[in-house]
Amino acid sequence: MSLITPLSPNIPIHHPARLSDNTPPERAARKKRGVADISARWPAGIITVALDLKDKKSKALVVDALKEWAHHTPDLRFEVVDGKQGDIRVSDDENIKGNWSDIGTDALWRDKNEPTLHLDRTENSKLFRANALHEFGHALGLLHEHQHPQNTLQWNKQAVHDYFVSDAYPEEIVQRQVLDPVSGPNLQITPYDPKSVMHYAFPAQLTENGHTGSENISLSKGDQEAIRRLYTPQITGAN
Ligand SMILES: [Zn+2]
Repeated sequence: MSLITPLSPNIPIHHPARLSDNTPPERAARKKRGVADISARWPAGIITVALDLKDKKSKALVVDALKEWAHHTPDLRFEVVDGKQGDIRVSDDENIKGNWSDIGTDALWRDKNEPTLHLDRTENSKLFRANALHEFGHALGLLHEHQHPQNTLQWNKQAVHDYFVSDAYPEEIVQRQVLDPVSGPNLQITPYDPKSVMHYAFPAQLTENGHTGSENISLSKGDQEAIRRLYTPQITGAN
Protein backbone atom coordinates (compact mmCIF):
# COMPACT_ATOMS: atom_id res chain seq x y z
CA MET A 1 0.00 0.00 0.00
CA SER A 2 1.26 3.42 -0.85
CA LEU A 3 1.63 5.78 2.07
CA ILE A 4 2.10 8.92 0.06
CA THR A 5 0.45 8.98 -3.32
CA PRO A 6 -1.06 11.65 -5.52
CA LEU A 7 -4.28 9.66 -5.39
CA SER A 8 -4.44 10.44 -1.70
CA PRO A 9 -5.50 13.78 -0.25
CA ASN A 10 -2.69 13.32 2.25
CA ILE A 11 0.18 14.33 0.05
CA PRO A 12 2.44 16.61 2.07
CA ILE A 13 1.83 20.28 1.47
CA HIS A 14 3.95 22.69 3.38
CA HIS A 15 4.66 26.00 1.94
CA PRO A 16 1.28 27.45 1.12
CA ALA A 17 1.12 28.07 4.84
CA ARG A 18 4.59 29.56 4.91
CA LEU A 19 3.62 32.08 2.27
CA SER A 20 1.07 33.65 4.58
CA ASP A 21 1.17 37.33 5.40
CA ASN A 22 2.71 36.42 8.72
CA THR A 23 5.87 35.15 7.12
CA PRO A 24 8.42 37.94 6.66
CA PRO A 25 9.87 38.04 3.13
CA GLU A 26 13.39 37.13 4.15
CA ARG A 27 12.06 34.09 5.97
CA ALA A 28 9.94 33.10 3.01
CA ALA A 29 12.98 33.36 0.75
CA ARG A 30 15.05 31.20 3.03
CA LYS A 31 12.86 28.15 2.67
CA LYS A 32 14.72 27.06 -0.43
CA ARG A 33 17.87 26.55 1.56
CA GLY A 34 19.34 23.62 3.28
CA VAL A 35 18.72 20.07 4.10
CA ALA A 36 18.94 21.42 7.61
CA ASP A 37 18.54 25.16 7.96
CA ILE A 38 20.91 26.16 10.76
CA SER A 39 19.36 29.62 11.02
CA ALA A 40 16.00 28.00 11.84
CA ARG A 41 17.46 25.89 14.66
CA TRP A 42 15.70 26.15 18.02
CA PRO A 43 17.84 27.44 20.89
CA ALA A 44 18.80 24.88 23.52
CA GLY A 45 16.12 24.38 26.14
CA ILE A 46 12.48 23.45 26.42
CA ILE A 47 10.07 23.59 23.48
CA THR A 48 6.39 23.50 24.28
CA VAL A 49 4.41 21.40 21.79
CA ALA A 50 0.67 22.08 21.92
CA LEU A 51 -1.64 19.40 20.55
CA ASP A 52 -5.05 20.47 19.30
CA LEU A 53 -6.11 17.11 17.92
CA LYS A 54 -9.33 15.20 17.43
CA ASP A 55 -8.84 12.31 19.82
CA LYS A 56 -6.50 10.40 22.10
CA LYS A 57 -5.44 8.03 19.37
CA SER A 58 -4.24 10.92 17.19
CA LYS A 59 -2.41 12.47 20.14
CA ALA A 60 -0.71 9.17 20.95
CA LEU A 61 0.50 8.81 17.35
CA VAL A 62 1.81 12.38 17.25
CA VAL A 63 3.59 12.05 20.60
CA ASP A 64 5.11 8.78 19.42
CA ALA A 65 6.45 10.48 16.29
CA LEU A 66 7.85 13.37 18.33
CA LYS A 67 9.60 10.95 20.71
CA GLU A 68 11.33 9.30 17.79
CA TRP A 69 13.03 12.63 17.02
CA ALA A 70 13.52 13.57 20.68
CA HIS A 71 15.80 10.59 21.24
CA HIS A 72 18.32 12.37 19.03
CA THR A 73 18.07 16.02 20.14
CA PRO A 74 20.30 16.31 23.24
CA ASP A 75 19.93 20.12 23.29
CA LEU A 76 16.14 20.07 23.40
CA ARG A 77 13.43 18.94 25.76
CA PHE A 78 9.81 18.82 24.71
CA GLU A 79 6.88 19.67 26.93
CA VAL A 80 3.70 18.32 25.35
CA VAL A 81 0.47 20.05 26.36
CA ASP A 82 -3.15 19.88 25.24
CA GLY A 83 -4.59 22.92 23.52
CA LYS A 84 -3.45 25.70 21.24
CA GLN A 85 -0.75 27.52 23.22
CA GLY A 86 2.83 26.48 22.54
CA ASP A 87 5.98 27.08 20.54
CA ILE A 88 4.99 24.37 18.05
CA ARG A 89 1.21 24.22 17.63
CA VAL A 90 -0.08 20.98 16.08
CA SER A 91 -3.59 20.92 14.66
CA ASP A 92 -5.78 18.54 12.69
CA ASP A 93 -8.51 21.15 12.17
CA GLU A 94 -10.57 19.98 9.20
CA ASN A 95 -11.02 23.56 8.02
CA ILE A 96 -7.31 23.62 7.20
CA LYS A 97 -5.92 21.45 4.42
CA GLY A 98 -2.72 19.57 3.92
CA ASN A 99 0.19 18.20 5.87
CA TRP A 100 2.67 21.00 6.45
CA SER A 101 4.85 22.70 9.04
CA ASP A 102 6.78 25.88 9.52
CA ILE A 103 10.52 25.31 9.33
CA GLY A 104 12.12 25.38 12.79
CA THR A 105 11.95 28.77 14.49
CA ASP A 106 9.93 30.22 11.61
CA ALA A 107 7.08 29.08 13.86
CA LEU A 108 7.88 32.04 16.13
CA TRP A 109 6.86 34.47 13.38
CA ARG A 110 3.40 33.07 13.03
CA ASP A 111 0.29 34.48 14.70
CA LYS A 112 -0.04 32.82 18.12
CA ASN A 113 -3.62 31.85 17.31
CA GLU A 114 -2.62 29.80 14.26
CA PRO A 115 -1.20 26.29 14.13
CA THR A 116 2.43 25.96 13.02
CA LEU A 117 2.05 22.31 11.97
CA HIS A 118 -1.03 20.78 10.40
CA LEU A 119 -1.95 17.15 9.82
CA ASP A 120 -4.87 15.93 7.75
CA ARG A 121 -7.09 13.53 9.63
CA THR A 122 -7.09 9.96 8.39
CA GLU A 123 -8.14 6.61 9.76
CA ASN A 124 -4.86 5.22 8.46
CA SER A 125 -2.74 5.35 11.62
CA LYS A 126 0.44 4.35 9.84
CA LEU A 127 0.05 7.19 7.36
CA PHE A 128 -0.89 9.70 10.07
CA ARG A 129 2.18 8.84 12.13
CA ALA A 130 4.43 8.92 9.06
CA ASN A 131 3.13 12.36 8.16
CA ALA A 132 3.68 13.55 11.74
CA LEU A 133 7.24 12.25 11.66
CA HIS A 134 7.95 14.11 8.41
CA GLU A 135 6.37 17.34 9.60
CA PHE A 136 8.21 17.31 12.93
CA GLY A 137 11.40 17.03 10.89
CA HIS A 138 10.46 20.36 9.29
CA ALA A 139 9.44 21.78 12.67
CA LEU A 140 12.96 21.04 13.93
CA GLY A 141 14.62 22.70 10.94
CA LEU A 142 15.02 19.99 8.33
CA LEU A 143 14.13 20.42 4.68
CA HIS A 144 13.42 17.91 1.95
CA GLU A 145 15.98 15.21 1.35
CA HIS A 146 14.93 14.71 -2.28
CA GLN A 147 16.02 18.36 -2.78
CA HIS A 148 19.48 17.61 -1.38
CA PRO A 149 22.07 19.42 -3.53
CA GLN A 150 23.94 16.15 -4.06
CA ASN A 151 20.93 13.92 -4.65
CA THR A 152 21.25 11.27 -7.33
CA LEU A 153 17.81 11.90 -8.84
CA GLN A 154 17.72 12.73 -12.53
CA TRP A 155 14.18 14.04 -12.64
CA ASN A 156 11.91 13.60 -15.62
CA LYS A 157 10.25 16.96 -15.05
CA GLN A 158 7.19 16.22 -17.12
CA ALA A 159 6.62 12.96 -15.28
CA VAL A 160 7.08 14.76 -11.95
CA HIS A 161 4.47 17.32 -12.93
CA ASP A 162 2.06 14.65 -14.18
CA TYR A 163 2.45 12.74 -10.94
CA PHE A 164 2.30 15.51 -8.35
CA VAL A 165 0.45 18.52 -9.74
CA SER A 166 -3.14 18.94 -8.60
CA ASP A 167 -5.46 21.71 -7.47
CA ALA A 168 -4.18 21.25 -3.94
CA TYR A 169 -0.55 21.01 -5.04
CA PRO A 170 -0.06 23.41 -7.96
CA GLU A 171 2.86 23.48 -10.37
CA GLU A 172 4.68 26.29 -8.56
CA ILE A 173 4.65 24.32 -5.32
CA VAL A 174 5.81 21.13 -7.03
CA GLN A 175 8.72 23.05 -8.50
CA ARG A 176 9.66 24.46 -5.10
CA GLN A 177 8.96 21.37 -2.98
CA VAL A 178 10.16 18.63 -5.29
CA LEU A 179 12.41 19.79 -8.14
CA ASP A 180 14.44 22.76 -6.93
CA PRO A 181 17.60 21.72 -5.09
CA VAL A 182 18.15 23.58 -1.84
CA SER A 183 20.98 26.10 -1.67
CA GLY A 184 22.24 28.90 0.53
CA PRO A 185 24.76 29.90 3.20
CA ASN A 186 23.09 28.46 6.31
CA LEU A 187 23.12 24.80 5.45
CA GLN A 188 24.02 21.77 7.42
CA ILE A 189 24.68 19.28 4.68
CA THR A 190 25.01 15.63 5.52
CA PRO A 191 25.31 12.90 2.86
CA TYR A 192 22.27 12.37 0.62
CA ASP A 193 20.02 9.77 2.21
CA PRO A 194 17.18 8.27 0.17
CA LYS A 195 16.01 6.46 3.33
CA SER A 196 15.30 9.75 5.11
CA VAL A 197 11.76 10.45 6.32
CA MET A 198 12.32 13.89 4.76
CA HIS A 199 12.40 12.23 1.32
CA TYR A 200 9.19 12.01 -0.69
CA ALA A 201 7.94 8.65 -1.90
CA PHE A 202 7.55 8.31 -5.68
CA PRO A 203 7.88 5.66 -8.41
CA ALA A 204 10.88 5.08 -10.64
CA GLN A 205 9.26 6.57 -13.74
CA LEU A 206 9.69 10.04 -12.23
CA THR A 207 13.43 9.84 -12.82
CA GLU A 208 15.52 9.20 -15.95
CA ASN A 209 17.86 6.94 -14.01
CA GLY A 210 15.25 4.72 -12.39
CA HIS A 211 15.75 5.99 -8.85
CA THR A 212 12.70 5.78 -6.62
CA GLY A 213 11.62 7.42 -3.41
CA SER A 214 10.82 4.67 -0.95
CA GLU A 215 8.16 4.89 1.74
CA ASN A 216 10.21 5.79 4.78
CA ILE A 217 8.22 5.58 8.00
CA SER A 218 10.92 5.67 10.66
CA LEU A 219 14.06 7.74 11.12
CA SER A 220 16.98 6.52 9.04
CA LYS A 221 20.50 6.48 10.40
CA GLY A 222 21.04 9.59 8.31
CA ASP A 223 18.07 11.34 9.91
CA GLN A 224 19.35 10.44 13.37
CA GLU A 225 22.82 11.75 12.58
CA ALA A 226 21.55 14.93 10.95
CA ILE A 227 19.26 15.94 13.80
CA ARG A 228 21.80 14.94 16.45
CA ARG A 229 24.40 17.07 14.74
CA LEU A 230 21.99 20.00 14.66
CA TYR A 231 21.08 19.72 18.35
CA THR A 232 24.22 18.58 20.13
CA PRO A 233 25.87 21.30 22.29
CA GLN A 234 29.46 20.29 21.53
CA ILE A 235 28.83 20.52 17.82
CA THR A 236 26.47 23.47 17.62
CA GLY A 237 28.10 25.60 20.31
CA ALA A 238 24.68 26.17 21.84
CA ASN A 239 24.27 26.28 25.62
ZN1 LIG B 1 7.82 18.09 3.64
